[in-house]
Amino acid sequence: MTPPRILDGKAVAAAVLDECRAEAAALSARGIIPGLAVVLVGEDPASQVYVGSKVRTCGELGFHSRKIELPAHTTQDELLEVVRALNADPAIHGILVQSPPPKHIDEEEIIRAIDPRKDVDGFHPENVAKLALEDPSGFVPCTPAGCMKLLEVSGIDTNGAEAVVIGRSMIVGKPMALLLVSKHSNATVTIAHSRSRDLASICRRADILVAAVGRPEMVKADWVKQGAVVIDVGINRVEDPSKKSGYRLTGDVDYAEVAPKCSAITPVPGGVGPMTIAMLMKNTLQAARQLG
Ligand code: NAD
Repeated sequence: MTPPRILDGKAVAAAVLDECRAEAAALSARGIIPGLAVVLVGEDPASQVYVGSKVRTCGELGFHSRKIELPAHTTQDELLEVVRALNADPAIHGILVQSPPPKHIDEEEIIRAIDPRKDVDGFHPENVAKLALEDPSGFVPCTPAGCMKLLEVSGIDTNGAEAVVIGRSMIVGKPMALLLVSKHSNATVTIAHSRSRDLASICRRADILVAAVGRPEMVKADWVKQGAVVIDVGINRVEDPSKKSGYRLTGDVDYAEVAPKCSAITPVPGGVGPMTIAMLMKNTLQAARQLG
């Protein structure tokens, strides 16, 4: 049996970031320095890590970045005020409010308050509509955009392929399904979710299986067709006393079992994760270009 191709998100992301660095330099020469503002409310440790790496990547690419850290007790109105100030700030082209915010915050209202032209996460209803309409002026959510880029760069043909996406979130599952079914990709798409009946047999139909659930190692070898391409979006912290941190990261796919059946598979970490940040930088450049 031929071993599966490991889809190296780190390497592909590095190439995307190189392109971003070059484009940022070209924009800067025209007097436009791409600017990203990242707002973090509270002290969620995983969010702190994500925000830190977004800001660091901006620095590496010559972007301007602003990290706004707010205490967990920040009110809805205070947060809305911060968003409005960033909307009006010409040095800022992209705004993101790190998810999840504390429970008392209405995230929907915050997302709607972001100027859609600066919504580099692609969560504003205007950008959701543009994705459905296949209007390239909109922003595509970074994680599914990263999955598509990884498939494309790896030469995986989605045309006419049976694709199954597990998960229907607005961050990953639904936009992923829209991208796969779009005229650029032309896959036949099934979205499975927590209420789907006989998930294993739905998954077995897939030439391309995307898991975006948040359940460690849920997808087993007998859910996967021989030769399928598996994209594992899940990032789960699992207790592991042998690690200094006390945990290890694992995907939604039981990699050890599933990999031998696949033609290609993404590892966790080092698969989809690095692609997400790379696409955020691409979206910020798009915003800077469009806003001028
Ligand atoms: P979410 O909790 O919003 O959505 C999970 C989806 O999985 C839901 O639509 C639900 O219907 C479905 N689901 C839950 N249990 C199920 C089950 N037993 N069977 C079938 N479907 C089930 O999560 P999300 O934001 O979409 O994230 C999913 C995973 O992807 C998480 O592990 C998250 O950490 C990870 N993630 C990774 C990146 C990245 O950059 N790699 C980015 C975003 C999210």
